[in-house]
Amino acid sequence: MTAAPPKYQFDEARKLYRKAGGTVRGFGPEWDNFEKKYKRRLNEICPLLKPAIEAQIAHRAELSRKKDFCPPWKHFKTWINGEWWTEEIPQTNKPKVRRCVICGKTDVTSSTDGKGWRCWRGECIEKFARI
Ligand SMILES: [Zn+2]
Repeated sequence: MTAAPPKYQFDEARKLYRKAGGTVRGFGPEWDNFEKKYKRRLNEICPLLKPAIEAQIAHRAELSRKKDFCPPWKHFKTWINGEWWTEEIPQTNKPKVRRCVICGKTDVTSSTDGKGWRCWRGECIEKFARI
């Protein structure tokens, strides 16, 4: 099976986010923001969005079942710009943990817009430079 094109995957995620109750703009402005910020990583990120939103919907249902506090959905743009699809426990109000985009460790030292954070490990610095 061939993977769906990134734009299509992004739009599926966008629609799902809106259906779940998030504030979402039209495809044009959301895609423009996303593409500008992550243009080097579109193929990598787009397939992750919808499954992440599905996981967050399930997590929220669980919170609501337990009558736990559940913060409102962020604006989709905020969710995208904060790379919230990388979080396992989603949508908390705690500051997001910064993780190295290569190895996932949290002792990050440097960030480049659109590429995310990286740690100090030599192999990560080298791989990060090639993103
Ligand atoms: Zn690393």
